[in-house]
Amino acid sequence: MNKKVESYDVVVIGGGAAALTAAIYCGRARLNTLVIEKSLVGGLATYTNEIENYPGFPEGTTGLGLMDNFHKQAKKFGVKFKLTDVKSVDLEGEIKKVETFRNIFEAKVVIVASGGKPRLTGAKNEELFLYDKGISFCATCDAASNTDKTVLVIGSGDAAIEEGMFLTKFAKKVIVSVMHDTGKMDCNEIAKNEALQNSKMDFKWNTVVDSFEGDERLTRVNLRNVKTNEIIPIDVDSCFLFIGYIPNTEIFKGILDMNKNGYMLTNEKMETNIEGVFAAGDVRDKFLKQVATAVGDGAIAGYAAEKYLAESETFHTQIMSKDLPGVVYIWNAVDEKCRELLPIIDNFEAKYKDKVKVTKVDIYKSTGLANRLGVTTFPALVATRDGKISKIIKEIDNEQDIEAAFI
Ligand SMILES: Cc1cc2nc3c(=O)[nH]c(=O)nc-3n(C[C@H](O)[C@H](O)[C@H](O)COP(=O)(O)OP(=O)(O)OC[C@H]3O[C@@H](n4cnc5c(N)ncnc54)[C@H](O)[C@@H]3O)c2cc1C
Repeated sequence: MNKKVESYDVVVIGGGAAALTAAIYCGRARLNTLVIEKSLVGGLATYTNEIENYPGFPEGTTGLGLMDNFHKQAKKFGVKFKLTDVKSVDLEGEIKKVETFRNIFEAKVVIVASGGKPRLTGAKNEELFLYDKGISFCATCDAASNTDKTVLVIGSGDAAIEEGMFLTKFAKKVIVSVMHDTGKMDCNEIAKNEALQNSKMDFKWNTVVDSFEGDERLTRVNLRNVKTNEIIPIDVDSCFLFIGYIPNTEIFKGILDMNKNGYMLTNEKMETNIEGVFAAGDVRDKFLKQVATAVGDGAIAGYAAEKYLAESETFHTQIMSKDLPGVVYIWNAVDEKCRELLPIIDNFEAKYKDKVKVTKVDIYKSTGLANRLGVTTFPALVATRDGKISKIIKEIDNEQDIEAAFI
């Protein structure tokens, strides 16, 4: 099948909080931006009933409502959306390719914000009961259908305990399997204390899932005591897994740098190991995976993408232009010697404005252009001719030095 090719300034892979924020920044900067989401725009946060820790909502908000607003805001800035799965990427070179079943999307910048997916227990028969057959990952989605029923929650982190408490509003009983000793949980203290006092919650300490049982649908989960190996059968209507996430990074393996768990490595500008490719949100190796931090990452990635594109434009149309020879002054605004040389550069520019294109690159603001020119020290002057670097000089004292070098 011949795939349809579309071109964008920025393609964002994923449609969660990080992706939508990056898209808002890119859209607002008037970049032609596409977000590709394979399931639900809004990402994981849409599965969360209550978000109480996202700033700006003293009474809390719903994940769905919050993400809906992110989505609307991105659309307001002209961001386009495609609901499809990214199958592969080719990220080398200036024009990157993002491939889906029907399309090849070309982009100058790719922002990877593909988040993570819920971790499975790996216990026997698990795959037989996933999603609508009794094993769920979303209390918001499946709480109402468990009204007056018995549910089992696996895990003791923030998500497990907070979502477990939410489930007590519907289910008659919420049993929680915790792998730690009695009273020890991975969640925050407030959630822990509330959960321990909740009369609908019953804790099975030192347990993990041994196997899942049922005919068409899940009816029983066999827990195993990790200390005694005793099998504890629990009859349930549904089982909710909240035991962490694994990053959606399979298609980037061998292309983008990752840690041993498959989370992407970036610097503080969300830059990956490939120029023009950024990563943001839960997909990154980072300390705290939350909506607030996904938003922070997305904002940085969007802003960095904009700067990268502006620098690319300057690099190609001005510095490496074949129309006129170029002179690039690489300086640092906080360096005295660099500042002293500025008037000399200005004089040179005024005198030769019809013969030479002068560009000033302040590496205090960004090192991107200096890196592209292969210059790491300052002050320095780079001469370009016919789209190539012809000379680099690092000893500059007066205008004659510049003229002697370039004219
Ligand atoms: C039950 C639960 C409760 C939570 N509660 C809170 C809370 O109270 N407060 C809080 O701040 N955070 C909470 N979080 C965490 C929060 O949801 C995440 O930190 C946040 O959603 C991360 O956003 P993201 O954009 O990085 O990734 P995600 O939201 O995971 O979005 C990534 C998106 O990328 C898409 N995708 C992946 N691969 C591809 C592909 N190949 N092609 C196209 N699309 C792709 C996915 O479908 C997904 O929609 C909770 C999470 C869960 C699961």
